[in-house]
Amino acid sequence: MKNKDTGIIGKKEVILDVVPIVPGVAMGPVHHFRKFSFNIEDFDYLIESVEGELDRFRIACSKTINFLKKTKKLSNVIYEDQFLDIFESQIVLLEDKIFLDEIENFIKDKKSSAAMAVFTVFREKMDYFLGLENEYFRERALDIQDLKQKLLHAIFGLGTEYQISVPSVVFADYLSPSDTVHFNRNLILGFVTDTGGKTSHAAIIARSLHLPYVINNRNLSKIVQSDDLIIVDAYTGKMVINPTEGTIESYKEQKKKYLDIELNLLKESKIPTTTLDGIHVDVMANVEFLHEIDDIMNSGANGIGLFRTEGVFLEKDSLPDEEEQYQIYRRFSEEMKDLPVVLRTLDAGGDKILKDLEQPEEQNPFLGWRAIRFCIDEQDIFKTQLRAILRANINNNIKILIPMVSCLREIRETKKIIEEVKNELTSQGEIFYPDTEIGIMIEIPAAAIMSDVFAKEVDFLSFGTNDLTQYTLAVDRTNQKIARLFNDMHPAVLRLMQMTIKNANSLEKEISICGELAGNPEAIAILLGLGLRKLSMSPYLIPKIKKIIRSFSVAECENLVENILTLSSALEVIEHAKKFYKQKISSADLLI
Ligand code: PEP
Ligand code: MG
Repeated sequence: MKNKDTGIIGKKEVILDVVPIVPGVAMGPVHHFRKFSFNIEDFDYLIESVEGELDRFRIACSKTINFLKKTKKLSNVIYEDQFLDIFESQIVLLEDKIFLDEIENFIKDKKSSAAMAVFTVFREKMDYFLGLENEYFRERALDIQDLKQKLLHAIFGLGTEYQISVPSVVFADYLSPSDTVHFNRNLILGFVTDTGGKTSHAAIIARSLHLPYVINNRNLSKIVQSDDLIIVDAYTGKMVINPTEGTIESYKEQKKKYLDIELNLLKESKIPTTTLDGIHVDVMANVEFLHEIDDIMNSGANGIGLFRTEGVFLEKDSLPDEEEQYQIYRRFSEEMKDLPVVLRTLDAGGDKILKDLEQPEEQNPFLGWRAIRFCIDEQDIFKTQLRAILRANINNNIKILIPMVSCLREIRETKKIIEEVKNELTSQGEIFYPDTEIGIMIEIPAAAIMSDVFAKEVDFLSFGTNDLTQYTLAVDRTNQKIARLFNDMHPAVLRLMQMTIKNANSLEKEISICGELAGNPEAIAILLGLGLRKLSMSPYLIPKIKKIIRSFSVAECENLVENILTLSSALEVIEHAKKFYKQKISSADLLI
């Protein structure tokens, strides 16, 4: 830690090394995140008087309007008019007589508490906006969710949590995936946490939101204060607390340079990707949210290699029904036209605890009731999703991917459930493609070892190297304390991959990779050398990875892998891979 001159807010400038998780530069005030979430069960049905509740609601409204007006002024000073329409539209809604009457009538007619009325009416409004075709209006659902939180805080007289008043860098000890999606994403500049892992689902979501994210490893969330100004450089792994004017200016310059490089890469990304010896490679996108579609189309992706449908569930306060899911999945099928959309069925559990699902507390959640285990037991939820997927496959480009398969029984049981769903749809006269492909994730060592047997049962396989590493090395992927042991280039992981690829090839089954390893520049040569020709990753990485692939020949990658597979430790593998990479690629062109 280095103390320098006094920063522009009158405190010492402090520069720290941090662990970069999602690249980018963020500058702004700190938003300290403390957990508090509202559930419907928190609100009383019984009230003392309707008049009392109407007063509570009106006072909360005027407090919130005052707060928003102040925030608008502040935001104007720091960011000019960049974020003004968000606050403006929230104020307009809180001054809309028809809307206010709707809430007041709910209180009067149902003899409801102010909190319950706000919760219910806002939820209906949000659902309405989320169901609209227009992207702009769907984005507004987040502002409505945010406004609901602000009002509920005012009703209960509570401090902030997901509520951000000015565009800020969120600072927390730990973030769960659901925390990550509950902020108003229009107001987040980046994330800093004390702990976490590169492949934690919060990190994956930050990646899909394309927000800079670093881990500080020092419990700084207890020290940094809410009015501190912060710069996060997640390209170089630096964080500046209370920067001086000079530092701010130099980071603004730096940010411009980074953007120029990104734009140049993006231009080249639409060209098909072939290696120096003419082998074609598909570079595909991992996605969690509908709003990412434009980024995916822009990135030059050759399709969607992994759609983590948990995003659809995490964004809502309740379980999405068949129609809601259908609308979202259908948009993907439509927009991607003839490009594939590998849609993974619900992977709840582990670190992804969804509101409204009866998920018990478990001693070892990652070894517990997760993914396909959960879906086979909760068939109503599973069948609802499968019906939505099959109906939504209007371009016959959707493929179904099953997560966390560990045994043959799970594959057969899943196929049986899919057949039952198809029969139901047929008897109801619904139109769907009966031959929609079914694949499995290879993310448990048992599935890799048994891949000669499992591959016969399905149409394709996809490596989930985040979990494959976690389960092979017995290292919790979210635990920063043991992050040094989480190594997806460990020879044990690579050997399991090699074995699986051989089995898939001999059965002529397609095999791809969608774990974070696919987006690691230094791993690309290994993946090509192992025989993979379909790599799926966060959309913003696609242009960089395409450029890297174009710099290698498959023949030299195969040589590299031959050497690497004789090595006995992860460190040796990484060293070899780094050396190979550095000989071929200039990092300055790639921001990596
Ligand atoms: C994986 O495990 O590598 C994977 C892609 O799935 P998730 O990260 O969603 O668990
Ligand atoms: Mg996984």
